Amino acid sequence: MTTNRRLLMIPGPIEISPGVRDAFAVPPPGHLAPDVIEAFGASLAMMRRVWLAAPSSQPFAVPGSGTTAMEMAVANLIAPGDAAVVVNTGYFSDRMVEMLRRAGADVVDLTAVPGEVPNVSRAEGAFDDYARAGKTVKALFATHVDTSTGALCDPRPLASLARERGALSIFDGVCATAAERFEMEAWGADVYLTASQKAIGLPAGLALLVASERALAARDARKDPPPLAHDWHAWRPVMQAYEARKPAYFATPPTNLILALSVGLAEILAEGMEARFALHERSARALRAAWSVLGLRSVPTREQNAAHTLSALRFPAGVDPSLVGRIAEHGVYVAGGLHPAIRSEYFRVGHMGYALTRTDFLMRTVEAVASGLASFGGAVDGEGAVGAMLSSLQADTAS
Ligand code: PMP
Repeated sequence: MTTNRRLLMIPGPIEISPGVRDAFAVPPPGHLAPDVIEAFGASLAMMRRVWLAAPSSQPFAVPGSGTTAMEMAVANLIAPGDAAVVVNTGYFSDRMVEMLRRAGADVVDLTAVPGEVPNVSRAEGAFDDYARAGKTVKALFATHVDTSTGALCDPRPLASLARERGALSIFDGVCATAAERFEMEAWGADVYLTASQKAIGLPAGLALLVASERALAARDARKDPPPLAHDWHAWRPVMQAYEARKPAYFATPPTNLILALSVGLAEILAEGMEARFALHERSARALRAAWSVLGLRSVPTREQNAAHTLSALRFPAGVDPSLVGRIAEHGVYVAGGLHPAIRSEYFRVGHMGYALTRTDFLMRTVEAVASGLASFGGAVDGEGAVGAMLSSLQADTAS
């Protein structure tokens, strides 16, 4: 590995820890190899702890990405004609709406301007409207952090609303799981899904999802089975076998990723979930201090709606999307805009997982953003920005 490699500070895939990299970088083992069975079984048990999920819940780790995990939730829970409510915060909520419509659901899509989160009262209103029309809502969907806007939604009131009204609640945690607070059991959420390349801290290739007992029962009650490759009835016996440390097969898992998963989850749990959530909050606060010195404004305008896993930052006057390439020239990859309504007006910096334990990575990121901005001309206080970030980190560590 070269020492001048560019840092990957996009909102996934992310920089991974040396421990995860070493676990991954071995000759491919078979899916029935004893160390894979052990890593698989241990990972599933650890997923419950990272998700803060009930002992009765079922974790699934299957080949695929976040989109696969979303499709799996929809395929198992939604039948044609089912009513669904989507609390839409951007590009990935739009994807969920599209999946639900393709599955034949009757969808109420509650949208908001980029960076905002629809109010819970609007979701209540959607449930009331369905009730007046004599329909019960099957499921409520929301994106915990929408990676296209950096909008953070609070899943807790949505999960309890769904419970009160007899619906399931499904949360896309692809840009949030293992970074933003999520208490699956305490909040009564039914599905929380993610992918390996985000805050879990692995290369891409695994779809990860935990289903509650109620969600599993909803699948059991289906008359028509979902597509075989997504069916919990096909995968669940395999997950149960691995957890009992027995070999099993339905479809070949990415074995190197399974080895890496057990190391990645163990690292997260060694840190502790509370410490983990706090690390992401502290780092986001410190980076915001730096962005503010650089004159960068966030897409989410309200503090409580701003994700701790990425910054979505509007270009200041005179700066354009070529900023992303200019930052890369200074050694750090950041991402361009993604939300179609504002695509050319902002850029995104990911801050999840291992990179947050490396103050040098954060300093390099702020310096590269400052240098990219400076290349447009005008005064940019890069040193001040790094200083603001470091003092914020120090103040938080001291308190
Ligand atoms: N949901 C969210 C919130 C995401 O950020 C992403 C990926 N950026 C996805 C879903 C889709 O995941 P994937 O690209 O791994 O299929």
